[in-house]
Amino acid sequence: MDNQKVFRIGPIRPPSEANSLLLQVTAGCTWNKCKFCQLYRHTKFKAYTVDSIKTDIDVMEYYKDLIMKHQRNDGSFDHRDIMDEILSKRLTSEEQNCFYMIYNWLLNGGKNVFLQDGNTLALSAGRLTEVLYYLKSKFPTIKRITSYGRAETLSKVTASQYKELKEAGLDRIHSGFESGSDLVLELINKGVTSEEQIIAGKNIKEGGIELSVYFMPGIGGETLSEENALGTSRVVREINPDFVRIRTAVIKEGTELWQEYINNGFELCSDNDKVLEIRKLIENTNSCQGILVSDHIINLLQDVTGRLDKDNKKMLSIIDEYLNLSIIEQRRYQLARRAGLVSRIEDMQLLTDIQRNQIDKYSKDVFSETEWDKKMNELIMNYI
Ligand code: SF4
Repeated sequence: MDNQKVFRIGPIRPPSEANSLLLQVTAGCTWNKCKFCQLYRHTKFKAYTVDSIKTDIDVMEYYKDLIMKHQRNDGSFDHRDIMDEILSKRLTSEEQNCFYMIYNWLLNGGKNVFLQDGNTLALSAGRLTEVLYYLKSKFPTIKRITSYGRAETLSKVTASQYKELKEAGLDRIHSGFESGSDLVLELINKGVTSEEQIIAGKNIKEGGIELSVYFMPGIGGETLSEENALGTSRVVREINPDFVRIRTAVIKEGTELWQEYINNGFELCSDNDKVLEIRKLIENTNSCQGILVSDHIINLLQDVTGRLDKDNKKMLSIIDEYLNLSIIEQRRYQLARRAGLVSRIEDMQLLTDIQRNQIDKYSKDVFSETEWDKKMNELIMNYI
């Protein structure tokens, strides 16, 4: 049906953009070769034309206008009237998805927008600027626009181009750095160097745009564990990003890194190795003002979060509390966390007797460390 009122919706957004309007300006990833990632393996990269993106924005505006007719004076919406109107229009399921995205977004204040997919800056800065101005002209309530970008692409954009993008409305760029160590970046075939990360980060910050980088403890395997932490610390110190987000490495079945692991070419890090990497990162970045964020269930210690300078001691003490547990207590906590039952060590006291007994049984069943690390990797695989 050519005349359907639909717009594109991509598959991925950061957790912090859960209530954001998703505007797809590119599809897939320009690189698609990182050894741990399968996200866009079956998507051929495409940068949409400005006209085609504007058409999507027009459809978004159509649903917005339809909903806004039913906004009461106090700002709330007449849900029943909106539903009556939607029913009368006999929307297809794709149209309903689009309608609900706009409706939920408006219910949340219609403030934040996230530009998809994996590498939005592959669209030239000039074209992206035109999209941003058009978007803001149609939705004047927008307060924040954010996007993903690949560091190698981001390093080719100048500080003055970032300034133009900021003026057009781009507020924050998320980038999966994963590691700041060149050895680790090579191991995972990230296709970027730490120097390119630093150029990208400095240009983004100079242009006045917030930068949120992602760090993967454990992605260098056991051999490069310390190197991963120290290399990342150096990059973080050089750039001083606004946010450093922790995404614990998961070696997922089907990826090239998994194959290397199966062929004994890659040794999994234990949960404790990963915690020690985070500890080293915090220790070595205590002059940075950015916020360390742990906003994903795959991270073991979710409450290790705060400003790298001011909350340094607090974060280290949470880590040390965990590291000072006996091995069996650490295993119990890891298991409870991986089962989604707890997010902090104190939460262990809230477990029921049945949960505690199950955890105890499982913790004692697996004796070898290698086998345990494999089990933990399998459990977190379920979350991504
Ligand atoms: S750059 Fe990002 S999306 Fe692309 S392959 Fe690497 S991790 Fe996946």
